[in-house]
Amino acid sequence: MNGNLKGALKAAGVVAIFLALTIPLTRFLADPRLEDREPEPIPAAWVPVVDELKVFVEAERGLKFKEEVSMVFQSEEEFLEEIEGTSEDYYQPDAADSYIALKALNLVDRGLDLGTMEDPLQGGGLVGYYDSIYDELVVQGTEPTPFVRMILVHELTHALQDQHFDLDSVPADTEEAYTAFASLVEGDATRIENAYFASMSPEDQASIVGDGETEGEGVSPFAGTEDRSLQTLSMLSGFPYEVGSLFVEDILSQGGQTQVDRAFKSPPTTTEQVLHTERFLDREDAVKVTSPQAEAEIIEEGIWGERGLLTMLLQTIDREQALAAGEGWAGDYYVAWKRGGTDCVRMSFATDTSRDKAELFEALKAWSFTHPTAAVTNGKTVLVRACA
Ligand SMILES: [Zn+2]
Repeated sequence: MNGNLKGALKAAGVVAIFLALTIPLTRFLADPRLEDREPEPIPAAWVPVVDELKVFVEAERGLKFKEEVSMVFQSEEEFLEEIEGTSEDYYQPDAADSYIALKALNLVDRGLDLGTMEDPLQGGGLVGYYDSIYDELVVQGTEPTPFVRMILVHELTHALQDQHFDLDSVPADTEEAYTAFASLVEGDATRIENAYFASMSPEDQASIVGDGETEGEGVSPFAGTEDRSLQTLSMLSGFPYEVGSLFVEDILSQGGQTQVDRAFKSPPTTTEQVLHTERFLDREDAVKVTSPQAEAEIIEEGIWGERGLLTMLLQTIDREQALAAGEGWAGDYYVAWKRGGTDCVRMSFATDTSRDKAELFEALKAWSFTHPTAAVTNGKTVLVRACA
């Protein structure tokens, strides 16, 4: 069963799985501030609003706040000024040395330059975030509009998670593990946010939808894009919110809040577990796969994951075939290198059964017809080599 992703695809309608190139996880990677700041009192006008939202979050999440949440309310100017440095650091990497594997696979254009894109934070209507390093919720807003209230619900959920499970204490040392953990954290917050949206009056809901801002703490500047690079980045970055919230709902329906809390203490480690809740509950870990051969100095390497595999397949081949092939994923390893002006990748995929292997091979073979240099071979594992 590919339950969680099928749900996400249904919810989103088309391949454009929801789209939010948001701040990774719940905090900035490169925080613009070096030191903690003195907590400020919540402005009087906000006190009843925050109190009401906290009651909602506590009831919906089934946990109580252990202490006050430190909140900072900023004007648009203050807010943008503070995130500007971070945003530049994070979203404008040296274009030539980023996304080597994605470029080799033709999933993003080689000319992609995030530096020339509209700033995803500023252009995307980011209005708040929770910083788990400084335990601080930062809100841009002078008015508690329905949209700002909904974002507060999401960020307050992160504060509640952090008070109970210390979001910084989880060792997620690979991108795959980090994405799996983020899917739990963001999925949980997105679920509560969705519940809040559902509880709002039709007028308030209409005002949120009317702003073009339906959900997520970072509303995507890419929604509805035809651009392949942006579609890819949207699928990858939207995963923790979209598939993550279905994952959390699934856990909740099977084991209640206790099971969700247990997941925070022992989070999912692969995107496979997020896509297939039963594999998380069974603790089916990824099979260790030997690194395939690189042909020059390795620039990127790691686990590609079922999320990455589906991102390749869903954009190119029949959806049912893509989902079925992804389902057989058991583990992988990839390496990427640059040589002579091209970006190259080699990936090695292990599958659960030999039937799964045949399925994955066929699916990747079909994918390779859309890529001029891709070669797929079926050996002990399924191997992919591609350059662009
Ligand atoms: Zn979040």
